[in-house]
This record gives sequence, structure tokens and C-alpha cells, in this order.
Amino acid sequence: MARLARMGRYGDTRVAPRVLFDARDLACPGPPADAVDVQFRTPLSVSLLLDRMLDHHTEQALTFLTEAYSEVVAKTVSELQLAAGYVADGSLSWPARLELATDAHLFNNDELHVRVHHHLWIGRTALALHDGLRRPVDLDGIQLSLANVVWSAYLRTLDAVTTRDLGVDWREPRPGAALEITAPPMHIGLTGREDLGICSQPWGPREVWEQPTAARLAFQAEQERDVAREIERGVSSWVPPDQLRPLTYRDEPDSW
Ligand SMILES: [Zn+2]
Repeated sequence: MARLARMGRYGDTRVAPRVLFDARDLACPGPPADAVDVQFRTPLSVSLLLDRMLDHHTEQALTFLTEAYSEVVAKTVSELQLAAGYVADGSLSWPARLELATDAHLFNNDELHVRVHHHLWIGRTALALHDGLRRPVDLDGIQLSLANVVWSAYLRTLDAVTTRDLGVDWREPRPGAALEITAPPMHIGLTGREDLGICSQPWGPREVWEQPTAARLAFQAEQERDVAREIERGVSSWVPPDQLRPLTYRDEPDSW
């Protein structure tokens, strides 16, 4: 699908989205049948840590979900609205107020294994800001923004709030791998190929766009293979997470 020509100026989309439905009301019919259910799934080490906390510090685990993680959820909403708040109109794309709802869950469909994630439901239509008319949302732009902007903003915020509130440290568990919580060492035994699952609770399945996407996971696996080859050839190096972290610009910002 060709990209639509975007109308308006940068920042026009920085408005508060509308509420698609009240996700706190479990008795309601839930998201519209045609809503897109974007599922942001944390790196597995977050779930393993929360699983451990639930055994001993249940209160702290639940507080994390309702307070710190809600900052992560809010970031995905504001980034999506800013980067992808557009409706399609022929070959044009107009700034619009998206209609969204969110909910964070500790579990997927079973309560056996903690799988921290949140749903960001997106209505298929929205009101254009310039004329107030309802049009289909620019789904292609939303998909691109998720891949290029929103997913990395999600990970950055998750890293920041877990570091701040849970005192964890994030590093590469394997050369070239996506970051996981490595202190405490929740990464041990992880391969990066674990199934993060899909959740259809509590209103049954909608069209699901899982994050990270299969393409992102495949890219990450390929990057791991590339870096492993570079280390073998001696052109790259890697410090395991249980050893002192090599200095980065974050440690000595003035010298870079
Ligand atoms: Zn869920």
C-alpha cells in the first residue's frame, strides 16, 4: 500500500485521544468487533521478575502494574497519537483524534505463567481535526509508526520505570540480543525464542497486532547470529552481564 500524503503540520496530532470504550468495566461488551488490538508484550525477564515478586511481595508486584507500568502504557498512547493520529481520505491523510482504550494484564489466557502485557485497542475510524468528519484511520501509518517509533519508546520507558522503581539493571543477555533484566539475573536460560503468547481476555479475540512483531523477532535473531560471527572472527567483543559493564557515554558524557 502506498503511503498517503500527510496533511497538516508536525505536532497537529498532539491531542488527547478519545476513549474507545471503558476497559475498566468488565461487564461492558468490550472493544468494537473491528477494533485492532495492539498487544505490547514485555521482554520475558520482566514477567519472570514479576512472577517471583508475586510469591513474596504480591503488593509490590500489583503496585508496579497499576502505577509504574501505567506510565509505560500512557507513553504508547501519546506516542501513537502523535506519530500516527491520522485518518485516510482518498490519497490524503489528515490529523485526527484517535479512539483508543488500554488495559494492562499480568497473565495471558491462563493464570499459570505471568506474561506482563498491555492492550492498546484502536478504533477503525476517527474524527479528522480539520473538519470533524469521521473517516477510516490510516492503519498503514499506524503500523509503520509502531515499528519505527512506538515500540522503541515503549522499551525505553519500560527500562526507565523498572530501573527507577524496581532497581533492576538491563543489559544484553547474549551478544547482539535485545535487552533483558540481567540484575537480578532474570535472563539466565532465556534464548530469545520463547513464545510470549497472545491474550484474548476478557472480551475474546479481535484483530491482534503483537509487539514485538514476528519480523522484529526475526531481525533480532539474525542480529544475534551476525554478532556471534563477528566475535568468532575477533572483530567484535562482548562483556557478559555478570562482569563489569564497559564504559559508555552515559558514564563519561564529557569525553565522547
Ligand atoms: Zn491481556
